[in-house]
Parts: sequence; C-alpha cells; structure tokens
Amino acid sequence: MDYSPSETSTAQLRYTGVGVSPGRVIAPLIPMAPPVAAPPEGEPLEGDPESAVERLSQAAASVKTELQQRAERARSDAAAEVLKATALMAGDKALIKNAAKLVRNQSLSPERALWDAASGYADQMRAMGGYMAERAADIEDVRARIVAELRGMPAPGVPQRTEPFVLAAEDLAPADTAVLDPETVVALVTSSGGPQSHTAILARNLGLPAVVAATGVTDIEPGTPVFVDGSAGSIVSHPGTEHEQAVAAWHRVSEQLASFDGHGALADGTDVPLLANVGTADDARAAAAAGAQGVGLLRTEFCFLGRDAEPTVQEQTEAYVEIFRAFGSAKIVVRTLDAGADKPLPFLTDTTEPNPALGVRGYRTDWTTPGVLERQLQAIAAAAQQTEATVWVMAPMISTAGESAHFAQLVHAAGLEVSGVMVETPAAAITAEQILDRVDFVSLGTNDLTQYTMAADRMLGSLAELNSPWQPAVLRMIERTAAGARAASSESGVHKNVGVCGEAAADPALAVVLVGLGVDTLSMSPRSLAAVAAVLARVDLDRARVVAHTALHAASAREARDAVRAQLPVLEELGL
Ligand code: PEP
Ligand code: MG
Repeated sequence: MDYSPSETSTAQLRYTGVGVSPGRVIAPLIPMAPPVAAPPEGEPLEGDPESAVERLSQAAASVKTELQQRAERARSDAAAEVLKATALMAGDKALIKNAAKLVRNQSLSPERALWDAASGYADQMRAMGGYMAERAADIEDVRARIVAELRGMPAPGVPQRTEPFVLAAEDLAPADTAVLDPETVVALVTSSGGPQSHTAILARNLGLPAVVAATGVTDIEPGTPVFVDGSAGSIVSHPGTEHEQAVAAWHRVSEQLASFDGHGALADGTDVPLLANVGTADDARAAAAAGAQGVGLLRTEFCFLGRDAEPTVQEQTEAYVEIFRAFGSAKIVVRTLDAGADKPLPFLTDTTEPNPALGVRGYRTDWTTPGVLERQLQAIAAAAQQTEATVWVMAPMISTAGESAHFAQLVHAAGLEVSGVMVETPAAAITAEQILDRVDFVSLGTNDLTQYTMAADRMLGSLAELNSPWQPAVLRMIERTAAGARAASSESGVHKNVGVCGEAAADPALAVVLVGLGVDTLSMSPRSLAAVAAVLARVDLDRARVVAHTALHAASAREARDAVRAQLPVLEELGL
C-alpha cells in the first residue's frame, strides 16, 4: 500500500490511506487544534493587575458564550448536556474570583493564575470521588479553553467553524466525537488509526466519508482545499474538475442509497436481518428511525465511559429501558461490559497492564472484579421485564467453551433466557461447535477477531493492511465458526444463530461474502444499512457462496477484495 504523498501536478498532492466510510467531498482541510500547554509555573504578571483581571473575565465570558452556542447546535441531547455543563463551569464566578486573587496577591499572569485556580478545583473534585471526580476532566477542559482564549490561540480539540471543513487528526478519541458537528465536519482524515479504530466507527455512524492511516495528511497547510474519497481511500489537495465531477456523481448515487425499508433479504428471498450497533439511547432512536430490524450489538460500556465508579443497578436499568423502548418488541442483543484495551473503565480495568489488548478485558474482568457482571445482568433482566423487548445477552472476549458455560449460567440465574458469546478470538472461532453446545448464539466481532488472528493492533495505522477483515485467514475463522454453528444446530435440533457485529458487516461487498460463508444476521452502524441492503437485494444465495469461495482462496486481503468486487458489478453501479 502506498502511504506516502505523491505529486500529481505542481499544485496537487495525493495521499493514500485506507477508505473506511464511503462518500466524496471537497472542502478546506483543518487540523485538530493541538492541546494547550500549561503556562510556566509562577509566570509573572506583566502590566496592571486590574486590566489583567478584566481580560480574564472577558476570556471566561467568551468561552462560556461559545460553549452555550455549541450546546444549542449539538447533534444529540447527550452532547448538549456535556456542553451546557462545561459552559456553566466557564461562567463559575468563584473560579474567576480565585484566579483574580492570584493575579492581585501573587502577581501571577492571568493565564497561570487561571491555570492554578482551576487545577485546585480539579484536584478537590478528584478527591471527592464518584460523580464529582468525573467532572474534574471538564474543569481541565475549561481551563485549557480559557488559557487558549487569553493567548489568542485556537481552542483545543475539534475546531469550531461555521463553514464546512475536512477534519484532519492523528486519530480521534471517543471524547472528541461527542461534540463533533456533522453539519460542518464533512469528512474525517487521519494519519494514524486502523480500519477498526474509533475514528472509523464514528465516521460510519455519522455517515461521513473517512480515510484513515493516510500518512502526511496532518502536515497539509490548514485551509488547503482537498478532495476526499472515502471508498478509494484517497485525499488530493487543490482538486480539479475531475474531482468536482466525482463529487457530483456521488451525490447522484447517494440519493438512491438514502433509505432502508426495514427488510434485509437476498434476491432469492432469503432473509438476512439487518440490525444496528448502538451505544446510547440517542443511537437507538436514530437506528430505529433508519429502519434497523433490531439491535445486534448494544455496547453497554459506551453508556458508562468516563465513569470512575460502577453505575448502580437502578441507573443501569434506566439506561437500558430507554434503549430497549426505542425498538418495541424487536430483538436487542446486549453485550455485557467490554472494558479494557482501548475502552478502559476505571472501576474495572488496570491501565498499567503491559499489553492491555491481551489482558483482563471483557468477560475476563469477572475474574478480577467479581460481582459487576452479575449486577449488570440483574439490571438487564429488570429492563427486559419493564419493556416488550426480545432481549439476548452476550459476553465479549470469550476464549473457551468453559467460559461460555459459566456465562450462560449467570445469564439464566439472572432470569434471562437467551445467552450467547462474541467470537473475537481465534480460540472461540475454532471451538465454535463446543461453545454453541453451551450457549444459544454467537456474534462475530470481526474487529477484534481480525486483530487477534493477524496479531496486529487494531489501533495502529501502520498495520492497516494486516488489520483488514478481508484477510483470508480471518475469513477462514468466520467460515469455521459458521461450520461449528451448523454442527451444533444439527446436533441439538435448534438453530444456533451466527451474527456479525464487527465493522465487516457494514462493507457491502464483504456483507455478501459473510452471508455466503453462512452468517445469518448482520449488525452495523445505521448509516450503512441502506447500502448493504441494496447490494444484498441484488445477489442470491448461490452467488454469495461463489463469491465467498473466491475470497477464501485469495492470497491476500487486497486480492480477496478486488476479486469479489470484480464479481459484484452492482457495487460499481451504486458507486460503492
Ligand atoms: C468487534 O470486536 O468486532 C466488536 C464488535 O467489538 P468492539 O469493536 O466494541 O471491540
Ligand atoms: Mg470487540
């Protein structure tokens, strides 16, 4: 793969990465603002203290106003709440009063005085623990914003602009994403991050074209117009007429792919239920509105990211009830907390592990922090009782049939009927039959299954080529899982469902391969439903099996993808 920029004309530079979310746009590129450095300790005041205090108050007031305006424009209630709470902190009179005291009494610069006053608050809040401790990071965010304002620098994090732009970053953290405004951010490009990174997942959720692992994009001069193609994985600076035409062509086909009628099926009528991956009640409502036939993956840890204490059973129940209600009586596959690796939860994970992706993560946290899983199952059961939802529960990061049996036992003890596990490790794929003798269903988490099969960190852009679910080795793991499920089904006389809830399901070409390999249901970000449905509707089961055979026998991920795409002209036709 070519990761380096190549010159196509004197003005144009082309950057190649991995396309992770389709779409084509042209807009100026704006990089993520760098973090704000602490003003030097004891930095002295220059000039008159009263005018410094005045500057301080004005900076705090303008940060407050900006945050309030962003709260009004926020895309979700949750983001609006975060922004409103941060705005309140920026307007906190006691904070400014304390900082003013430091300016007047200790002759500190307003930047340093504010820094010290806010740090004092943050430390106090951390010491209080619980909810207050979780707000300490918000105070630090306000501190950075006010200091940036005083210095006349851009606010840290996602730039706020009124005109559309392409956001360039090394990678995006989940926290950046809550406040990203898809009205103005029209594409995401990163120099790092793999196809299964949070940036990729977020881009698909928002329906934004995105390219990851494109080395050099963060060095492009801010404001330079760029063309982004999220299918081809390319970025071109100073685009020309051919790029404008490519954008116009995308607009024409994307209209055809704007809606899903809520029924996933192949051309021969074989049902392939298409479900949604969600993390919050807002997501669930959006997924239901997009026609999802249920939830194939509820990432419960997303309801509680940033919490430093275990949520109570009551709090959890309320959160799940709100999510379940979005779907009436449809199926909701709830995944128990998948804390660890790139999603640490302070009450469950040890962040000092040398190798967290291979450490105590997911189901394994039940060994080090017993009780949390049982209380979560209790909350899920209570929420199921209070709603009409058809609730299935599954555990992440399972490696053995014994773990599966233990999980099923906990699920049944909580009064829930249907238990399953994620197949995310080669061990689980290889022993799928034995696992399915003990649980009712499996769901392939292809993001982790890929990283563990290929021994390639899913967060690393430099390993993006290895970290592709198109890798024939990964496809063989999927085939093996489906074969195990068939054997367990015929042995027990009960159909054992095989789903896919990793990002692979959202790739329309790969979706055909997955169905051909024997997968029953696909779960993805709601934005991908229409495109996947449109392609499946044009392929029958025999064709899907032939296509899957081609992919399995390819020599590389690239060869598998190219060969499959060549066999599915519908992709080209739909601009996918
Ligand atoms: C996966 O690993 O494919 C998966 C769906 O889980 P997550 O992305 O949350 O690790
Ligand atoms: Mg996973």
